[in-house]
Amino acid sequence: MKIKSFSSPVNLSKQNFISFLTYINMIPPSHPRYESLMLREKIAEGVEKGIVHITGLIAHGRGETFDYLLGEKTHLFADMAAKAAASWIMNAEHPVISINGNSAVLAGKEIIELAEKTGAVMEVNLFHRSEKRVEKIIKFLEEMGGKNILGMEGDARIKGLEHERAICSREGIYKGDVILVPLEDGDRCEALKKMGKRVIAIDLNPLSRTARKADITIVDNIVRAIPNIKRHCEDVKEEIKEWDNEKNLQDALNFICNRLRNLSL
Ligand code: ATP
Ligand code: MG
Repeated sequence: MKIKSFSSPVNLSKQNFISFLTYINMIPPSHPRYESLMLREKIAEGVEKGIVHITGLIAHGRGETFDYLLGEKTHLFADMAAKAAASWIMNAEHPVISINGNSAVLAGKEIIELAEKTGAVMEVNLFHRSEKRVEKIIKFLEEMGGKNILGMEGDARIKGLEHERAICSREGIYKGDVILVPLEDGDRCEALKKMGKRVIAIDLNPLSRTARKADITIVDNIVRAIPNIKRHCEDVKEEIKEWDNEKNLQDALNFICNRLRNLSL
């Protein structure tokens, strides 16, 4: 763990609470919430570095809630969705992985590995787009070994959307046939579908519009889902054509409902 420089207690007010706890080693790896707190720390650092948009904190919090309800595990419904996703990506003509600030800081390395394995194009594509942030995310991914990452071109638009959030790359999302969109917004997911693309979403919330609009939704944390897709890529034989996304989402919802019903304090 990287120890942050710390000169005077006066600086404390500038650090977020979790950074401080990390610094004084109050979150040992044995802490029952260690992994979750470390992910939170990555998101907070991402905001400080200008990689994650401030609203990414809220998106992460919503994700955390659902992950809590899911028991922070990959369930059969998510594993089956990851398997179907792997088969689609491996059989696509022009697969694309869309990357935003949250996905870059949480699973950047794993996304790069998945792209290398499948030949998928990586594109940094942001809801709250600014060229500066796109550039920062690309640099962040390049430092982890990512190559040929699109996003700066901004030479095409996702049809049916207004403003900056429609901007994309012609050789990336615009041209793609199968698009993996981790932590996407429902509106944009729907617009991609209307452009005739097959959309694979990773979303911990089975009730979100993204989850319901996508063709395949992996109801799992991105940090587990991406390595899981990669693992399934190794044993893809043919494309899984029969996929009932609504049923899979219902399975996820049933799991959450049953778990809540059976939980006791
Ligand atoms: P929608 O626009 O699809 O209806 P929303 O408006 O409720 O969704 P957004 O902020 O647009 O939410 O998107 C963030 C989504 O990402 C949320 O549904 C949240 O559950 C999900 N999410 C956040 N963190 C993670 C994570 N680490 N792994 C998987 N999903 C996550
Ligand atoms: Mg949304």
